[in-house]
Amino acid sequence: MESAEIRRRWLRFFEERGHTVVPSASLVADDPTLLLVPAGMVPFKPYFLGEVKPPFSRATSVQKCVRTPDIEEVGKTTRHGTFFQMCGNFAFGDYFKEGAITYAWELLTTPVADGGFGLEPEKLWITVYQDDDEAEKIWRDVVGVPAERIQRLGMKDNFWSMGVPGPCGPCSEINYDRGPAYGVEGGPAVNDERYLEIWNLVFMQYERGAGDGKDGFEILGDLPSKNIDTGLGLERLAAVLQGVDNIYEIDTTRMILGRAGELTGHRYGAGQKSDISLRVIADHIRTAVMLISDGVTPGNEGRGYVLRRIFRRAIRNMRLLGATQPVALQLVDVTIEAMGPQYPELHEDRKRIETVAAAEEASFLQTLRTGTTILDTAVSEARGAGSTVLAGDKAFQLHDTYGFPIDLTLEMAAEQGLTVDEAGFRRLMKEQRDRAKADARAKKHGHADVSAYREVADRAGATAFTGYTDTSGEAA
Ligand code: ATP
Ligand code: MG
Ligand code: MG
Ligand code: MG
Repeated sequence: MESAEIRRRWLRFFEERGHTVVPSASLVADDPTLLLVPAGMVPFKPYFLGEVKPPFSRATSVQKCVRTPDIEEVGKTTRHGTFFQMCGNFAFGDYFKEGAITYAWELLTTPVADGGFGLEPEKLWITVYQDDDEAEKIWRDVVGVPAERIQRLGMKDNFWSMGVPGPCGPCSEINYDRGPAYGVEGGPAVNDERYLEIWNLVFMQYERGAGDGKDGFEILGDLPSKNIDTGLGLERLAAVLQGVDNIYEIDTTRMILGRAGELTGHRYGAGQKSDISLRVIADHIRTAVMLISDGVTPGNEGRGYVLRRIFRRAIRNMRLLGATQPVALQLVDVTIEAMGPQYPELHEDRKRIETVAAAEEASFLQTLRTGTTILDTAVSEARGAGSTVLAGDKAFQLHDTYGFPIDLTLEMAAEQGLTVDEAGFRRLMKEQRDRAKADARAKKHGHADVSAYREVADRAGATAFTGYTDTSGEAA
């Protein structure tokens, strides 16, 4: 079943059951606490928080999502993309656990010929929060899932909150058993690659306070009105339904993978290392195109830096696989071809997306040309001195003079078997920042040229990439 058909069936199923279809919001979150939308519930947050009265009591959407914290997993696990689409159904003071659970089961197990996804019930494993007897009972007694395929998990996996006072509650997840080829049996509690998590049902039932309480949580009591927030990964379900090994090989991403293979002369499937690179390229280019389409431009801060890092990582992997010419245009074109049927705005915006991508590639190739020589020299020097650590001042020089972000230096050093003295690097960064601040202060009442300071601050922001760890809404 094609991705586009999964989306259609999803929306139709919930629309037929009284849900208002809400189009995906932009990836650029309309929310000061978030850089980018990591989950389908984000556009509905004001309703969940009780700030705005929802205009409907049931809604459904297929939301574009970006999760930068998952970047290191891409291509290595079979299930993490930096961009993915989260299919969701939401209820505001309407149906609760039993409604959400029985809808999910019905949609997943109804035969394809009758409008469902046709998954075999025996392959589905359920997790519930350790104290959620109510959810377990519904799965067992109402749906009929055998007790041995229901597992209880703790706070980390099966309890959701926004990380702040407000609504919170247990989750229940549906996982698909992909069989012994994916490792040992024992359910999702034991093996999360074999038992692929496809759908998370969040039951918002408690009010969280600001205090610590049990497990770092103060529960003030029940919410006056209980809500449902669910999220199913479209790409994960597509991988299952299309019978492919991972989310990069599904219909849409596969096209990008194939083009990257053609451009570099590496057939996908020919080698483990090149396959990981091809998957990273396919994932990252898609993310970059979707971000540019939503108005993000590459830069050294915030969203612009997320885009820059992801896009440049794709281009660098293309170079690692042997590309010597610019490739951005070809990769953007195939992505628009792959995603266009679901996002027609990509076609209308093609010229602008191409221009942004080509300019960013050109600037990155220039950076790489100068920086790589410096890095290689530093690596040989370190080796010559019998060390496996690249000095902090080298990393700083690369950053300061050649525009090499620290994560690129880390990655390129690691490829040559070296680590980097990151503490030393950070110390030098801080010294530079302090100097700039002192300068700015000294000039405050004169004709202060703050541009130098601003530039430093911008670049410092660039290294704080891992600072984006806001996981609010991460559990669906
Ligand atoms: P995992 O444990 O596999 O990292 P998660 O628990 O972080 O997933 P949730 O926050 O529960 O995921 O999100 C709801 C659903 O969105 C997941 O069940 C999954 O189907 C999908 N999903 C989450 N993260 C990704 C990702 N990086 N790429 C593709 N799909 C994802
Ligand atoms: Mg995750
Ligand atoms: Mg999980
Ligand atoms: Mg989850």
